[in-house]
Amino acid sequence: PDGRRFFVGGNWKCNLNKSAIADLVAAFNEAPPLDRDGVDVVVAPPSIYVDSTRQILRNDFAVSAQNSWISKGGAFTGELDATMIKDVGAEWVILGHSERRHIPQLKETDETVAKKAKYALENADLSVIFCIGELLEEREAGQTIAVCERQLNALKQAISDWTRVVIAYEPVWAIGTGKVATPEQAEDVHRSLRLWLKQNVSESVSDQTRILYGGSVSPANCVELAKQDNIDGFLVGGASMKPTFMEIVDSYK
Ligand code: PEP
Repeated sequence: PDGRRFFVGGNWKCNLNKSAIADLVAAFNEAPPLDRDGVDVVVAPPSIYVDSTRQILRNDFAVSAQNSWISKGGAFTGELDATMIKDVGAEWVILGHSERRHIPQLKETDETVAKKAKYALENADLSVIFCIGELLEEREAGQTIAVCERQLNALKQAISDWTRVVIAYEPVWAIGTGKVATPEQAEDVHRSLRLWLKQNVSESVSDQTRILYGGSVSPANCVELAKQDNIDGFLVGGASMKPTFMEIVDSYK
């Protein structure tokens, strides 16, 4: 469907350095131009490298930050106002990544993540990759959909315009583990989330909003996942830091 152009995000997390980024970007820059009607590609370096990555990266790739503060800047040592991300030419921010929700020293709540999204969208004019997903014990307890809906509901309470939101469904048990969800497992959740959007937000938001899958996506498994009706792209961690990330970018073809 029209509004749901394929989307591939690369999340470099807390990895790479200046020279490793230069090498990776050089490899990406050599690949053929993207079909801009076919795919959006976004990479998310560690925040200190967002500016320099934007300066060396091909123009048909967008740049994202991996986090931002809940509101306007000020006396918030170590934080980034989302307008600063925009100021250096990045267009996206990843919010609510499972590592930020679950790492004990971080523990961001649903409300915190939703507040960050509201500020980034409404005050910084950034687009948001909004991550949701269940823990293994939640899946085993049959709570997968309830957890994802709770996380999405916090966003629904905070925002009204969904046009610059992309949802990334990332089952926590599949992130960085090599245990990818099967295409059927992922599609089941994506279908439920799209129905939730239809029933709780609107039919057009349900039709137009991209729902990405994330969790151990690789060149070997991306093609089967990309064939699913409700999988509109990927958020990729480990496999986004290799030149073969371009194979994942092309998986919609
Ligand atoms: C991620 O960082 O969002 C992710 C899905 O990581 P990986 O692809 O390494 O599982």
